[in-house]
Amino acid sequence: MTIMHADLRTPLLASPASDRSELQHQDQGGTVIGIIGSGDFSRSLAIRLVACGFRVVVGSRKPSQVARALFPDVVQVRPQREAVDAAEKVVFVAVYQEFYSSLGHLKEQLAGKVLVDVSNATRRKSGGPSNAERLAELFPESRVVKGFNMVSAWALQTGAHDGSRQVLICGSCSDSKASVLQLARRLGFSPVDMGGLNASRDIEEAPLLLFPSWECPILATFLLLLFFYGYSFIRNVLLPYIDHGENNFHQLPLVMANQVLPAVAMVTLALVYLPGLLSAGFQLGRGTKYSRFPGWLDGWMRSRKQMGLLSFLCAGLHAVYSMCLSLRRGAGLLGAAYQQVKAGVESSRSEQMVWRSDLYLSCGILGFGVLSLLAVTSLPSVGNTLNWREFTFVQSGLGYAALTLSTMHAVFFGWDFAFFPAAYPYYLPPLHLLALILPCIILMGRLVLLLPCLKFRLAKLRRGWESPRHRAPDLWDPAESADSDSPPSFDA
Ligand code: NAP
Repeated sequence: MTIMHADLRTPLLASPASDRSELQHQDQGGTVIGIIGSGDFSRSLAIRLVACGFRVVVGSRKPSQVARALFPDVVQVRPQREAVDAAEKVVFVAVYQEFYSSLGHLKEQLAGKVLVDVSNATRRKSGGPSNAERLAELFPESRVVKGFNMVSAWALQTGAHDGSRQVLICGSCSDSKASVLQLARRLGFSPVDMGGLNASRDIEEAPLLLFPSWECPILATFLLLLFFYGYSFIRNVLLPYIDHGENNFHQLPLVMANQVLPAVAMVTLALVYLPGLLSAGFQLGRGTKYSRFPGWLDGWMRSRKQMGLLSFLCAGLHAVYSMCLSLRRGAGLLGAAYQQVKAGVESSRSEQMVWRSDLYLSCGILGFGVLSLLAVTSLPSVGNTLNWREFTFVQSGLGYAALTLSTMHAVFFGWDFAFFPAAYPYYLPPLHLLALILPCIILMGRLVLLLPCLKFRLAKLRRGWESPRHRAPDLWDPAESADSDSPPSFDA
C-alpha cells in the first residue's frame, strides 16, 4: 500500500533542529512521530499514522538497505539518531526487547521524549522487570509508555474496522500517557488506561494467554462429557456385550452422543446457578455480605457466562443430532406403520403417550429458545443496551426458566422409565435420571430461598445489613438489633 503526499516528500535536512522544523512547517501541519525499527510493525504503524494525518520518520540501523517501496512515500527513513531528533515528542520502539541495549547511543536524543514500548513477551515470567520497565531503566530521562502491543501489524494496516479496536495503555507519567491515549484515539482505536507502568507485565503477557477465562469451564464441560459418555458406554454397550453378546457399538457416534449432550447441557446450566445458591447460603450463614467468598467460589462466579455458553453449545448440538436421528428413524417408522396396517391395528399410540411426547418436545424447544436468548444477551454489544434490572431479569429470571424447561423436558422424556426395573440394567439408572439430580437440587434450593423468612433476610443482607454478631461491639445497639430481623419495607 503506497500513500502519496507529494508535498511531504521533502527530504530531512542534516541538522536535527532544522529536520524537525522542516517536517513541522510543511503545509500539512501533522505532528512528527518517530519509529525506531523498520520491520513489519514499524511499516504497518507508519502506514496508519500517515493515513491519519501524522508525519512519520523511521529510524533504521541501515536506512539504505530498507525496502522503501514498503513504506508510504511520505515516510522518511533515516539513521536512528536523525529519526529520533526529528520526532517531536513521541517515539515508538518497534524493536525486539533483546535489542534494547543496542539503542543506548540514543539516550541523549531520547531524553524528555515519550517512548512507546510495543513489544510482546515471548514467555510468561514470574519475576523481574517487564520489557517496558527494562526500557525505562535503560532510558531514565525518557517517559516510557506501554501500548499497542496487542494490535497486530495486520490490524494496523487494515484499519480499526477489522480486528479488536481496544488498545491497552499504561505509563507512570500521566502527561505522556495522555498523549499516547490521544494518539490511539486519532488512529481509530479505543484506548484503555490500565494505570502505571507496573501494569505493563500483564499487558505484554496478555497475547500469550489462550482463552484464560475459558480454561475451567471447558475443563468442567469436558469432564462431564467424559463421565456421561463413559457411563453410557459401560451401561448400554460394554455390559450388554460382555453379558449376552449384544452388539450396540453402532450407537457410539450418534445415538449415544445425542444422549450425552443434553445431559451435559443440563448439568452445565445447573452449574451456572449453583454458585448463586452457595453464595446466598454463605451470606445467610455468616450474617453479612462483607466477608469474602472463598477463592474457588469467586472464580466459579466469574466463569458463569462461559459455562452458560457451553451449555448452549451442547443444547444446540443436541437439537441438531435429534433432527438427524428423527430423519433416520423416519425410514424405520414407515416399516413399522406397514406392519401395523397389516396387523389391522388402528393406532398404537395412547392419548397419554401423545401428551407426553408433545409436552416433552415443547419443553425442549422452549428451553432451547430461552437459552438462545440468554446467549444473545451475554454478547457485550447486546448486554450493554440493558440496564441492571433488565440484565438481572434476563440472566437470572430467564436462566431459571431455561433450567426449569430443560428439566421438564427430561422429566417428560422418561418419567415412567424411572419406575420400571428394566430401566436399571446392572443396577445402573438411565442417563437422564443422573442428569436430573443437580438441576432438581438447584430448583429446590431456589424455591427454599423464596421462603419469605429467607428471602427478606437475604435482601436485607444484600442491602448492607449485618447480623449483630458481625458488628463492632461499640457500634452495636441492642435496642436496634431487637427488630433488625423484621423484613425490610420494599417501598421502591
Ligand atoms: P521485525 O519485523 O523483525 O522488525 C524488527 C526491527 O528491529 C528490524 O527491522 C530492525 O530494523 C530493528 N532493529 C533495531 N535494532 C536491532 C538489532 N540490534 N538487531 C536486530 N534488529 C534490530 O519485528 P516486528 O514484527 O516489526 O516487531 C517489532 C516489535 O513489535 C517487537 O517487539 C514485537 O513484539 C512488537 N509487535 C509486533 C507485532 C507484529 O504484528 N509484528 C504486533 C505487536 C507487537 P533496522 O534493521 O531497520 O534497524
